[in-house]
Order: sequence, then C-alpha cells, then structure tokens
Amino acid sequence: MLETKSTCPYCGVGCGVVIEHDGQQITGVRGDPDHPANFGRLCSKGINLHHTASPLVRQTQRLLTPQWRAARGGALRPSSWDMANERLAAELLRIRRQHGPEAIGFYISGQLLTEDYCAFNKLARGVIKTPHIDSNSRLCMSSAVAGYKQSLGADAPPCSYEDVEQAECILVIGANPAWAHPVLFRRLEAARAHRAGRPGQKLIVVDPRRTESAELADLHLQLQPGTDVALLHGLLHAWIWNGWVDQDFIAARTEGFDALKALVREWTPARAAQVCGLREVDLWTAAEWFARAAGSLSLYCQGLNQSSSGTAKNTALINLHLATAQIGKPGAGPFSLTGQPNAMGGREAGGMATLLPGHRDPADPAQRAEVAALWGLDASETLPGPGHTALALFEGAARGEVKALWIACTNPAQSLPDQALVRQALQRCELVVLQEAFAGTATEAYADWVLPAASWGEKEGTVTNSERRISRVRAALAPPGEARADWRIVRDVALRLEPQLRPGLAPLFRADEGPESLWLQHRETTRGRDLDIGGLSWAALDRDGPQQWPFVQGPTNRLYTDARFVFPDGRARFIAKPYQAPAERLSPQRPFALLSSRLRDQWHGMSRSGRVPTLFAHTPQPKLRLHPQDAARRGLADGDLVRVSTARGAVLLPLQLDRSLRLGAADLPMHWGPEFLRHGVNEVSAAARCPDSQQPELKFSAAQIEAVELP
Ligand code: SF4
Repeated sequence: MLETKSTCPYCGVGCGVVIEHDGQQITGVRGDPDHPANFGRLCSKGINLHHTASPLVRQTQRLLTPQWRAARGGALRPSSWDMANERLAAELLRIRRQHGPEAIGFYISGQLLTEDYCAFNKLARGVIKTPHIDSNSRLCMSSAVAGYKQSLGADAPPCSYEDVEQAECILVIGANPAWAHPVLFRRLEAARAHRAGRPGQKLIVVDPRRTESAELADLHLQLQPGTDVALLHGLLHAWIWNGWVDQDFIAARTEGFDALKALVREWTPARAAQVCGLREVDLWTAAEWFARAAGSLSLYCQGLNQSSSGTAKNTALINLHLATAQIGKPGAGPFSLTGQPNAMGGREAGGMATLLPGHRDPADPAQRAEVAALWGLDASETLPGPGHTALALFEGAARGEVKALWIACTNPAQSLPDQALVRQALQRCELVVLQEAFAGTATEAYADWVLPAASWGEKEGTVTNSERRISRVRAALAPPGEARADWRIVRDVALRLEPQLRPGLAPLFRADEGPESLWLQHRETTRGRDLDIGGLSWAALDRDGPQQWPFVQGPTNRLYTDARFVFPDGRARFIAKPYQAPAERLSPQRPFALLSSRLRDQWHGMSRSGRVPTLFAHTPQPKLRLHPQDAARRGLADGDLVRVSTARGAVLLPLQLDRSLRLGAADLPMHWGPEFLRHGVNEVSAAARCPDSQQPELKFSAAQIEAVELP
C-alpha cells in the first residue's frame, strides 16, 4: 500500500490528507497529522473523499474523453484531443477575428490549482488579450477582497488559525464554521475546552439563524437579515461613547477616523438594536467583550460577503479592529474565511477580472506593464484592463456581445443567480466550452465542447488556504480515460493559438510547461509585493511542507505586527460607508427574507460530494426551512409542498419547520440544481450586486411562500 500527502479539495480550511492507494485505486483517506491546518483531523466531507475517486465513480461518473456537439441540442460525440484542440483553437480564432478579443470570456473556479489559474490567465490576457476572465470566487470572496484592499491596502488576511486558540473574544459574523469550516471549528471548540489558567474565551455569533455555531456561543445576536452594517456601526458608537477606542493606535497608524465618527454618531446602540431587531443590552455586552479583550478575532464569510452591501459590511467590521487596535497581535484581527480550497490562490495569481498576478490592479497601466514584462510579452504588446465580473460576463453573453465562454471547473447553470439570464447567455453564445471532471452537470447541456479534466487525487500543484498557507496538492493516480490536468488542457490550446496571434514573438507557453514551471512563474510575480514568496522554492515546499506567505526569508504567521499597513503612507484607512438595506424590500406580496445556506455534508453544487451516498444521510433532500409561527400563520404544516417565489421565478419543495430561524426569515440550502429540482434553487436568488465588489446578493431575496395544491 502506498501513501501520498495532498490537500482536501473542499473548503478553504485546507486540511492536509494522506491518500492511501496502490497506484491503481484510492482505498482510503486520513487526516495528515503533520499539516498545521488540521493536525490529523478531517470532517465528514474530507473523511469520505476516497469515495469520490472510487473505481465506480471514475469509470461511470467521470468525463473520460473530449466530446463535441455538431448542433445545439444534439448528442455529444467523442473526439480525440488533437481534434478538440485544433477545432477549439480554430473557433476561438474565428470569433476573435470576427468580433474582437472581448468577444471571448473565461469563467473559472476557486477549485482550480494556482498553476491552473496561471495558465488560464496567460491564455486569456496574454495570448487572446481579452479582459474577460473571472472566477466563481466572485460569488464568495470578492467583498472580502475589496474590504481588505480599501481598509488595509492589500488583499491579505492578517491572521492565522492559531489566533482562534489565542483570542479572548471571537466574533463570528455571517458564518457558520461548525458546518462550513468544520475542522477550524473543532479547533475553536478544543481551545474553549482547554483554557486552564487563562481568561475564559467569549464567543459572539451574529446570524439570523440559530446555527450549530450559535449553539456554542456565549451571546447569539440573531439579527434581522441584512442589517450587519447597522450593528457594526452601533458597536463603534458604543466604544466612542465609552472611551473604549484606542486613540494612540488611531493617531499613529490610521486615517479617516473623524469622518467615520461623524457617520456613526447617529448609530446609537438603541437605534442599531431597533434596526437589527435585537436587545440593546446585548449590543452593549458584545461591545464590551470585544473592546476589552486582550485579543479579539472576527471570523466571517458569506453572510457578510454575499450582499449588495458586501464591501460596506467588510469595511465596517475592519473599522472595529482598527478602532480598538485589535489587529497585528496574537488572537486578534479581521479573519475572512475562504469558501473554496483555492479562492486565495486565484486571488494571488490574479485570475479575476479585477485582479492581476501578485495582487496587482488591472485598472493601473503601470501594473499591467509590470505583469506584461514578467510574462515576457513584447514591448509592442499591452495587457487588457479590467474585464467583466461573473454576472456581467453572462449578461454580456445574453446581449450577444460575448460570443464564446470557456467555463472551467464550475457549474454556472446551477450556481449563478438569475438562472433565466444564465440560460439565455449560454444558449446565445456561439461557442461554449466546458472543462470539467464530472459528467452530467447542468452546464454540460449547453456545451459545444466538453473537455475531461483531472480531479482530486490526480493533480499536481498548489493551493492556498484561508490563513495564507500554501500547500502541495499531489497525484496518487493517473486521471481516468483521457482526462488531463487543467493547466495542460489550457497549454495545448495556447500552443496552437500563439503562432497565429503572436507570430514571431517569444511564446508565453512552452511544450514542456508543467506545475513547477508555472508555480515559479507565479512566484516571480509576487516579488516585492505584499504576498512575496520569493524566498520559497518548489523543493522546499515539497520537503518542508505547507508555508504561509509572505515568505521572503521564512514564513509569516501574522501580518501588520509592525507599524506599517500596505498603503504607501503605511496607514490603514477607516472607511465610512453608510448602512443600506438589502436591494429587495419586503412587501405584503413578498414578505419573507429568503436566505441561502450551506449544509454540513454537501459541497457547492454537489458535483463531487453528491457522488457519496453516505453524505446524503444528514440531509437527503432540499427543504425550505421556516419558523413554525410563520408557517402556522399561513396554514402550512411540516412536509407540505410549498412554492417559493421571488421577482425572478419560483421553486417547489417541501417545507421543514425549524425554530432556529428568525421570524420572517426562510432558508434554502444552496446545493440542489436543475438536475434534482425542476429548477435549481438559484432560479429565485437575487442578482443585485455590491457596487464595489460586484458580488451578488445571494443571501437576501424578498420571497413569497405559499402552499401548492396537489391535484
Ligand atoms: Fe476538507 Fe474543509 Fe473538511 Fe478540512 S474542514 S476536511 S478542508 S471540507
């Protein structure tokens, strides 16, 4: 029996796994005791990973050969890789010639490895010269990116997982780590159980639902959905009133406090409590615990990010840390938890419409020129500026402006909001390419070309987790059939395009390109930047195990411990953004705030976790959750079939009564798509976006809930 160390491909905790195999078959998985993210622990998804790579799944549920359709709606036919690459390159050239480079868009994924991101970025921006490359991380992390950049000067989470153990006060807001980041939550639970001789840790959870995380809390603030900014401004008001802000830190290391102070003057705890639907005394309690702790740590995720005020929520939270100097020291800081295994790597590699490699800004011509030089582009070439973000890309396709979409390792026909528009976009494109490991996703039905990709246990490269830790991903098996590594699929098309699009110029892609060379190219783009990994070699990463960036002479476990933030003047910025209600208003016609949430044992659209029968034991089918009092007022009973309708459409599903919800809120699990329901759950979700981050408001739609009369 052989063992290969790799990384879990599900959430951003980034747990190390030991794959047990014989070179032909993966027989088991266990937690890597040496990995500093999990020290051997795994959650239910991780411990069942080997079932997603069983011989049955690899032979019957994977894409095994390139396939194409002669006509939309027709059957997929197998193709050789040579034919696929030739025809795909020819189609991309035709569309670029007829409509320009901006007619081609790439929609990629936080599931990809950093090396895959590098390859896609070079192909899109460097070879085709389209600005339109964005990632499904737009749906989960872009508000956190915008918040860090606006407040601290760089997209760099300042904390480490060990801060969970060192904090005296933890504020969990817009997150349910007990289900979505389970191994990190186990560390939190263990830390609370073993604080002998130290002050007790206070846990505050802010969530409209009484989640498993909230069950552990010393204080649960079950606020009205979408009112987080009002709460955060109210806490700051309480501190200013009581003299609990750190005036020395504010004066020495920040800018903009006076404007923020003026903004929060009206946000008395009484008013904030009223807007949030909370007791004022609970705000004061939370304010005192956070401000007076030696170390206060915030953990946050989609509840803040997936909002039309996503950036305002992030910056309002970071304001609290700056006002109380709760940053840059043990057990303190605003710690954004990433959803996907390599959302961070995609941000580092600049695989998003609003980012370039090395956390550079595509809106800045000088920074575009730096990347062009690092990639070895000719002096006559320039890189395109910012492109369409995820939803704008599909809106462009629906309008007929974007003619070709290359989609990799994600399933927009299930996961994007406003599904009617997404269907229209995919149908209107002249070319839809789907690069995917698993057969039968909803997007496959729209694809002209389906390219079989390698999956977990079959790939080599790196990922970065929430605490900036770069881990190796290693292959135990060869991919099944003719499936190939994602970077290789990209490289082989790029090798055909470059002689046509960049004749006579030094090529960006080489035939011997591979994970190590791509990672080294990525490393060069980080030198001198906030995420500098210039002191780390591939061999050292392989030999010494996971490392946190920046890594110049060694790893860095905590940022901003010195006097400087990343802005040129070294000072952090207080951001004064007013509270705004969610984009959709509740009304008698649509009186419920519809939330979307993640289940404990499923992942995203279930293209991987849905292959494991035991993972359905926890929740076998999607149900709409509603408080019993809300249900009783409408004459609904547990198990009734209900229609959930919003301004965009409707879904039908059974009702589950659940006292953990706030009155007036309803909750829909995010995982089920049109393969399972007639319409997937995103048929009803909102497409309103945060103006700064362009992240959609997946956490709040105004909805009506009615009984469905069965014939
Ligand atoms: Fe995988 Fe996340 Fe579970 Fe760790 S906590 S095993 S990374 S799903």
